[in-house]
Amino acid sequence: MSKKSSETLAKDREYHRDPEVREKEKAQGRKKRVENRALVLQAYGNRCACPGCGESHVGFLVIDHVNGDGAAHRQKIGGGGSVMYHWLIKHDFPKKGFQILCANCNMAKGIYGKCPHETERSGETP
Ligand SMILES: [Zn+2]
Ligand SMILES: [Zn+2]
Repeated sequence: MSKKSSETLAKDREYHRDPEVREKEKAQGRKKRVENRALVLQAYGNRCACPGCGESHVGFLVIDHVNGDGAAHRQKIGGGGSVMYHWLIKHDFPKKGFQILCANCNMAKGIYGKCPHETERSGETP
């Protein structure tokens, strides 16, 4: 009797360790993250906010903290990425302080303070 139940337990553990099951769970998690991402990006306009860019391929778009307070915000809500998308959905897509940038513009803004697209437009030399 007790032998049988411990066998069932072992089987249970095996089920959860099954790479196929784990792969499936991972795929479901990924699908959910992609869905949340699409929802958030759509709410913010599905387009890079940088003047002179206008990238609209969702795969390249990220949510940007307009005032550069992303690190503090991520710390406050307990993470970035999917945590952030979930937070934005839960808070009904707050428009103040958030915008969409593409990965290029976002990276450049992080390094230079603003994107080279903007510098080009204003005629300054970087
Ligand atoms: Zn851009
Ligand atoms: Zn740009």
